[in-house]
Amino acid sequence: MLNKKTVDDLNVKGKRVLVRCDFNVPVKDGVITDDNRITASLPTIRKLMNDGAKVILCSHMGKPKGEVKPELSLAPVAERLSEKLGVEVKFAKDDNVVGENAKAAVEAMKDGDVILLENTRFRKEETKNEDNFSKELASLADIYVDDAFGSSHRAHCSTVGVTKYVAESAVGYLMEKEIEYLGNAVENPVRPFAAILGGAKVSDKINVINNLLEKVDILIIGGGMAYTFIKALGGTVGNSLLEEDKVEYAKEMIFKASQKGVKFLLPIDTVIVKEFKNDALSDIVPTGLIPDGWMGVDIGPETRSLFTEALKDAKTVVWNGPMGVFEFPNFAKGTEAIAEALAHIDGTTIIGGGDSAAAVNQLGYGDRMSHISTGGGASLEFLEGKELPGVAAVQDK
Ligand code: AMP
Repeated sequence: MLNKKTVDDLNVKGKRVLVRCDFNVPVKDGVITDDNRITASLPTIRKLMNDGAKVILCSHMGKPKGEVKPELSLAPVAERLSEKLGVEVKFAKDDNVVGENAKAAVEAMKDGDVILLENTRFRKEETKNEDNFSKELASLADIYVDDAFGSSHRAHCSTVGVTKYVAESAVGYLMEKEIEYLGNAVENPVRPFAAILGGAKVSDKINVINNLLEKVDILIIGGGMAYTFIKALGGTVGNSLLEEDKVEYAKEMIFKASQKGVKFLLPIDTVIVKEFKNDALSDIVPTGLIPDGWMGVDIGPETRSLFTEALKDAKTVVWNGPMGVFEFPNFAKGTEAIAEALAHIDGTTIIGGGDSAAAVNQLGYGDRMSHISTGGGASLEFLEGKELPGVAAVQDK
C-alpha cells in the first residue's frame, strides 16, 4: 500500500497549492491532438478547487532544453483546461516560468481559482534539479502536490527539488491510481500473472525482463526485441532487428525463466519483408528461419493464436510495447491481437503507456482495460522494481 500523503490527507482551504501535472501532450500547429493526459489530471484539480485551494498548475512539455520555444508553450493547455473545467484557467505567461506574471496572478487568486505556469523546461535548471529554480517554484505555494506520474522517474526541480522548500507535500489521485495498479500487479498479483513485452530494443528492457522473471508466471516477448532471443536459441533472423551484444543476456534470461518455472513464450512465426514500408511484399516463415535480405516486422498468425491462448486464463496482465511495426497498418495485426486478447480477459489488465496505450485506444479497447498508464518510461522503471524519485520525494503519511 502507498504510504505517501495524498490529496485526501490535506487541508487546503485558502492555501496556495502547486500541482505538478503531466501536460506533456502532442501539439500540432498550436492544436492539442491527444488530451488524455489533461483529462487524467482533472480529478485532482477538481478536488482541490472544491476544497477551496488556490490551484497553481505546472508541467513540462517536450524538450526545449532550457530555451524558450514558443511551439512548446503551455498556452494551448490552459485553453483546453478552461474548456474542460468550465472556468477560466489563467495562463501566467512568463518565459522564466516564475516571473512577474506568475507572481501577480498568484497574488490575485481567490479560493478555488486555477492558474497554469509556463513550461518548466524553459528553465535550464529544471532538468538539473538546481536549487534556485526549486526555491522559486516553492515560493509560489504553501503545499505541493505531485500528480505527474509520467515524469516521476526524473529527479527534476518540479518533481523532486521543490518538495524540500514547501511545508507539506502529497501525491494526487492520478499518481495514487498509477502506483496502486502497477504496485499491486507487481507485488500482489492475482495469478496467473502474465507480462507481455514488445517494442524495438532489448537493451531498453533488460532490467524489466530480469525483474519480471522473479514475479510472473508467463512472460511473452514479441516485437523487434524477440529476434535477439531467437538468435540466442540458434535461429537465423536475416535483417531483423538484432542486438548482437545482448545475445548472451538473452540466453541467461531464457535459462532464468526455465529455472524459475516461468512459461517463456517467443514468436513461432513471423511476417517478413524485404523493404521497410506498409505495402511491401511480405511472407510468413517460422521465426528462426528468416532468410537473408528479409526482416521480421510482425508476429505471424500461429504466434497470434499461441499468445492469445496463453493469455486466456490470466488474471493479471501487464503489457508494454507493440508486437510489430504497428505504425504500418499491414503489420499491426499482432499488436491488435494482443489488444483484443486483453480486452477479453476476466482479470486486471494494465497497459504500460506509450505505443501499447496508443494501439489500445486506436482500436477502441481503452474502456476494456483496467488501467492505461499515462507514463511509458515511468511505468517501465516501476516494473524494473526501481523507486521513482518523484514519488519518494513526497512526504510519508
Ligand atoms: P519501443 O519504443 O521500444 O516500445 O519500440 C516501439 C517501436 O518498436 C515501434 O515504433 C515499432 O514500430 C517498433 N517495432 C516493433 N516491432 C518491430 C520489428 N519487428 N522491427 C522493427 N521495429 C519494430
